[in-house]
Amino acid sequence: MSVYTSLDSVKDELLKCLKCGNCQAVCPIYKEMRHEVAVARGKIVLVETLLNGEIEMTDRLADKLSLCTTCMACNQICPNGIRFDKVILAARAEGVRKKGLHPIKKIAFKALKLQRLFDLGMKTGSKFQGLAMKRVKGQDYGARMRIDLGIGKEKVFPNLASKPFRSQFPSEVKVPNPKMKVAFFSGCMINYFYPDMGKSVVDVLTENDIEIAIPADQACCGIPASVNGDVDSAKEQAKRNLRAFEESGADALLIACSSCGSAWKHSFSELMEGDAYYKELADKWAAKTYDINEFLVNVVPFKRDGLGEVKRTVTYHDPCHLNRGQNINKEPREILKAIPGVQFIEMKEPGRCCGMAGSFSLVHPELSGKISDKKIADIATTSTNTVATACPACRLQLASGVINAGMNKDVLHTVQILAESYAKGKQ
Ligand code: SF4
Ligand code: SF4
Repeated sequence: MSVYTSLDSVKDELLKCLKCGNCQAVCPIYKEMRHEVAVARGKIVLVETLLNGEIEMTDRLADKLSLCTTCMACNQICPNGIRFDKVILAARAEGVRKKGLHPIKKIAFKALKLQRLFDLGMKTGSKFQGLAMKRVKGQDYGARMRIDLGIGKEKVFPNLASKPFRSQFPSEVKVPNPKMKVAFFSGCMINYFYPDMGKSVVDVLTENDIEIAIPADQACCGIPASVNGDVDSAKEQAKRNLRAFEESGADALLIACSSCGSAWKHSFSELMEGDAYYKELADKWAAKTYDINEFLVNVVPFKRDGLGEVKRTVTYHDPCHLNRGQNINKEPREILKAIPGVQFIEMKEPGRCCGMAGSFSLVHPELSGKISDKKIADIATTSTNTVATACPACRLQLASGVINAGMNKDVLHTVQILAESYAKGKQ
């Protein structure tokens, strides 16, 4: 039974809850709201009463269930190891089955499924973004909304790329004597907002003699849809991606986004329960999916000769879906510490959620901002000039927070700093 198809699938998880309240100590939402509905225990009680038939799914209940960044901090501290991430996914999917999807989300997820149209929309949007967005003074990084649409007036969004990442590179990037062939899943954020991150992935892999397939037909990973309960859209996107990558003939699949990585490693298999053909495909690709940091440290160790000096003081933020979701936290640090010239300074609580959580930051901008403020304060105490992370969504949130705090810091993916070092090594 899948969390996406039945609320009964999480009955055993609910039964494990001791109501001890340990989860209060780590929940970023509870820390801001100090209200039981914010924390895992409170939502577990709601889901229990829903399952018992004591309450019905209503819009108000769905709103309460939206109060979770899916950061998995409660999973980690829970004495009974409750997979609260599964509980919240199952509950949200139940919400959509019973009440339907919010009209705005319906339009957004439909657009994501119509890849060509979405692509055209993003390219057109890049030309006219100045109409809706006001560039941040002195920054070529991004802009704030001109009108308050309720998604965060203070948030600084990166500019839409005039040429998306996948339009900048061919579907096959060859090298003279390849060690292996990998396929790169860029995800939407790297494709449309951060092609610089994608370029660094290509630069680092080719530097390490890895041939790269970049399937043109790849779609959104489906995480925005699945975490909001739109299981049908998530399934459609997963199937499309599985077909596209199956054709690539690659030995491994690489990802530089923590949420996309979780989708390929975990969600696709769960979404495909009951569909023998796609389940087999999803399991096969899950077993050969790697985060770029994981790949460069554990699979094909990155070349250390040829690294040039990078004069940066760097701190690192652990993306929740990479750290707790995939247990990858040593690898990015190993890469950063290997770069000549980099002085690494650990921040306080590097694994605490930054408050982005995809659509959560748009639905709850104020709460997201407050969670971000705590992270930015921890970053400030490191006095570093660079914040590294391993997820484009975290990069967006951290960069916005850094700009709004008036700090002058670069916010980069670890692979961008590694690419910078290889480039310096050639000078
Ligand atoms: S820590 Fe675990 S067992 Fe304790 S209240 Fe939270 S979810 Fe329940
Ligand atoms: S996943 Fe994170 S935000 Fe959600 S209830 Fe658990 S600790 Fe709180």
